[in-house]
Amino acid sequence: GKLIEDDCIVLYPYPSMGHLISMVELGKRFLDLSTDDVGGCFTVVVIVAEAPFVLPYVDVYIKTVTESHPSIVFRRLPPHPSLTADNYYPPTVRTIEMGFEFMRASNPLLRLSLQSISLLARVRGLFVDFFGAAAMDVADELGIPPYTFMTSAAAQLAFFLYFPTMHNNTGDSFKDLERSTLLEFPGLPPLQAADIPQGLEDRNKKAYGQFLEMSKRIARAAGFVVNTFDSLEPRALTALENGACLPDGAPTPPPPCYAIGPLVAPDKGDRGARYCLKWLDSQPRRSVVLLSFGSMGVFSTEQLREIATGLERSGHRFLWVLRSNDNNAADLDALLPEGFMDRTRGRGLVWKSWTEQAAVLNRDSVGAFVTHCGWNSVLESICAGVPMVAWPLYAEQRMIRVLVEEEMKLGVAVEFDEKGKVSAAELEKRVREVMDCSEEGKGMRERAETMKAHAAAAFGEGGPSHTALLHLAKKLKQGCLRENTSRTE
Ligand code: UDP
Repeated sequence: GKLIEDDCIVLYPYPSMGHLISMVELGKRFLDLSTDDVGGCFTVVVIVAEAPFVLPYVDVYIKTVTESHPSIVFRRLPPHPSLTADNYYPPTVRTIEMGFEFMRASNPLLRLSLQSISLLARVRGLFVDFFGAAAMDVADELGIPPYTFMTSAAAQLAFFLYFPTMHNNTGDSFKDLERSTLLEFPGLPPLQAADIPQGLEDRNKKAYGQFLEMSKRIARAAGFVVNTFDSLEPRALTALENGACLPDGAPTPPPPCYAIGPLVAPDKGDRGARYCLKWLDSQPRRSVVLLSFGSMGVFSTEQLREIATGLERSGHRFLWVLRSNDNNAADLDALLPEGFMDRTRGRGLVWKSWTEQAAVLNRDSVGAFVTHCGWNSVLESICAGVPMVAWPLYAEQRMIRVLVEEEMKLGVAVEFDEKGKVSAAELEKRVREVMDCSEEGKGMRERAETMKAHAAAAFGEGGPSHTALLHLAKKLKQGCLRENTSRTE
């Protein structure tokens, strides 16, 4: 259908919601740039590989964006026949492995797609996230500058870049270290061994090797584009800019780093969530705790009951986004403690489908956000000025928890018991810490307000993220490749 012409940028996200949403927001930013500032415009194509497992909401999301932003062109690659379906969420190490695998297996189809786009337009850059790092080879072959787009924190990018060095410095697996062993990564606060991203625990596992290979590959990107902003992650951004996290032998100067965030989905208030928003608007200012665990967070029945009891005992109002999935039966009410729904009627709402989380967070009545620490969720909370209760579940969320609690001081974290569960009493305590007007709670709220203002300023006219995007756009227009992008490994 649509015409692709002139200068074009191609986005190639891993097709889960967290990766897709921020990549699409990046595309919208490119489309919104002023032609005068950049010297022309770009067309934006998003190529979406087909995962061999179900990634929830993706089809609906793409349809919605196609309707609201017809100038963004989606090209969907056919499924790869040799990979078979697997149950995906919550993500396990095995599904991380499959994630890397199917993205790599999609390279030939990606190449064909890029070649056909190149017949119509000059492709000025291919933007891949870390799962798609192997696609950078295709870009190199076709003479397209490959950029690494970081869907997570700048600190996570610094972590990946330093990971090969860490690997070379020791023969141990992270899992063999004492959980509290402190690890020093340039650009990060000290990390406990227990807080490293999922999939890196064991150096004999496939996922570990895939992360290692990816980490080396992205160090040779034409540039790093990160969904963050200067005042949110100064320490990590400095390490990226001065190359402190890069491995020995990496190109000098380091690939340029563009902090262009926060990229969050707009607060539209869609039809599906309208009841939710109406309900929130009928509650007092800052009185409601929001609980939402990303696109893939799931809990055991036992854990659900603890959450319910904790919420009930906290005495606070709440909006709990709780979707059913294959792991627990469709009838969620039956899983919750008896009488819970009745006893909390009026002050609590259990919402059983997708909400527009960014819109919900921006309601005045929301006072705290219990989050799984997906980076998009954290950014959305920051943009809305809402302090957090961090409850990391999978991927790199334990590391993000460290940033939120210890570096940004915008939240408190739940503690897990020896079985990895969070008790009702623990949740109650953390919710109270943020919601009650204690000194600590007040301090957190003030910092959240300040960071909200910084976030808004970052992409305002003349703001650091806006300026970085303009630089990037101009560089793309010039079409310059790094001198040292030849494959030298
Ligand atoms: N999200 C949403 N409604 C939901 C659950 C999630 O809008 O009910 C959005 C959320 O706002 C965020 C994205 O889905 O933009 C999830 O990304 P995140 O990085 O927070 O977590 P992931 O799902 O990738 O673990």
